[in-house]
Amino acid sequence: MKTIDQASFAGKKVLIRVDFNVPLDENFKITDDNRITAALPTIKKILKDGGAIILMSHLGRPKDGPTDKYSLKHVVPHLSDLLGQQVEFANDCIGEEAINKAKELASGEVLLLENLRFYKEEEKGDVEFAKKLAALGNIYVNDAFGTAHRAHASTAIIAQFFPDAKYFGYLMASELENAEKVLNNPTRPFTAIMGGSKVSDKIKLIERLLDKVDNLIIGGGMAYTFAKADGGNIGTSLVETDKLDLATSLQQKAKDKGIKLFLPVDNVVADAFKNEAETKIAKTGQIEDNWMGLDVGPDSVEAFSKVIEESKTILWNGPMGVFEMDNFEKGTKSVAEAIVKATENGAFSLIGGGDSAAAISKFNLTSQVSYVSTGGGALLEYMEGKELPGVKAIND
Ligand code: AMP
Repeated sequence: MKTIDQASFAGKKVLIRVDFNVPLDENFKITDDNRITAALPTIKKILKDGGAIILMSHLGRPKDGPTDKYSLKHVVPHLSDLLGQQVEFANDCIGEEAINKAKELASGEVLLLENLRFYKEEEKGDVEFAKKLAALGNIYVNDAFGTAHRAHASTAIIAQFFPDAKYFGYLMASELENAEKVLNNPTRPFTAIMGGSKVSDKIKLIERLLDKVDNLIIGGGMAYTFAKADGGNIGTSLVETDKLDLATSLQQKAKDKGIKLFLPVDNVVADAFKNEAETKIAKTGQIEDNWMGLDVGPDSVEAFSKVIEESKTILWNGPMGVFEMDNFEKGTKSVAEAIVKATENGAFSLIGGGDSAAAISKFNLTSQVSYVSTGGGALLEYMEGKELPGVKAIND
């Protein structure tokens, strides 16, 4: 793997694609800086080596060009605090100001460019736009795992302008190494826990995991498609009626391969989709009309926890219920706690980004698992076996 450990940065202008797409509150204060702190090791290493750093990122999904709400200038004060030095800012990612500021940048200094997505060319993967960005530096580093599954100008296309000077940053490298470790070199038993709202989003990953895992736990909204496929009553629970055959065939495949598949045996059901709804416990397949399953029930939690605690490799992607509402967080929280216990006993636990990362953060357990990925979609696609454009561009 071509990482920044193989490059020499002294006296160089280093363009780093980072993922600073952080959530901001109404006063533009960062509410979760994980994505910024995750990029610090790469930034610090290059500064220490005597490089001058030009950071590029996107923020949010601006529709019509520059918008104050999506300006990366809001990130500058906190980034400066974290680095212990003033970070320069260019009000555009290309053009005269960016060119001049990049030119004037001295060794050990940091310049952050304005939001790349203020230009439609970024998401289109426009070569001319990528060329303009590339002209700002003489080494390219990609440390934006969260966008590695996109063939955007700054994540993939730009790499062609640095045939002998393109590298993975430390965050990219550790994301890839951890995903590989779980997929190709798991200590057994290996348990995957899949949840979230839809089975359709995760079919490919589930199918691939059936060739890898010893145990597969399925919870969350997607479990009701399985319950319905088994002929059960699911009330008004979430369901994908066009995926019933798929649910049946996944169950059959698991059986054929000798994989233990754990589905919820009971559920916390509610009479409305809100935290204050009336709730009770219902056995799987026996949910009454007008009731919906919003979390796995206590017997399911017990069964899932036992399997997880006995595992030596754990992959978790997707919550067990509507964890954002406190009354339906228990299943997800219990799974997180079982993963922490297993990790304390020597298991390697990889938590997929997106909602699982948000859940484990809600329960303050982030530091007690082996690795929490910064990529939601990117991790899913990588684990499905797809070649990520941002990774391929460096490897080519
Ligand atoms: P996904 O984006 O597919 O990973 O799904 C994550 C979302 O699924 C979260 O926002 C959860 O609130 C939601 N979810 C989990 N379990 C259920 C459920 N039983 N019913 C409805 N939504 C659910």
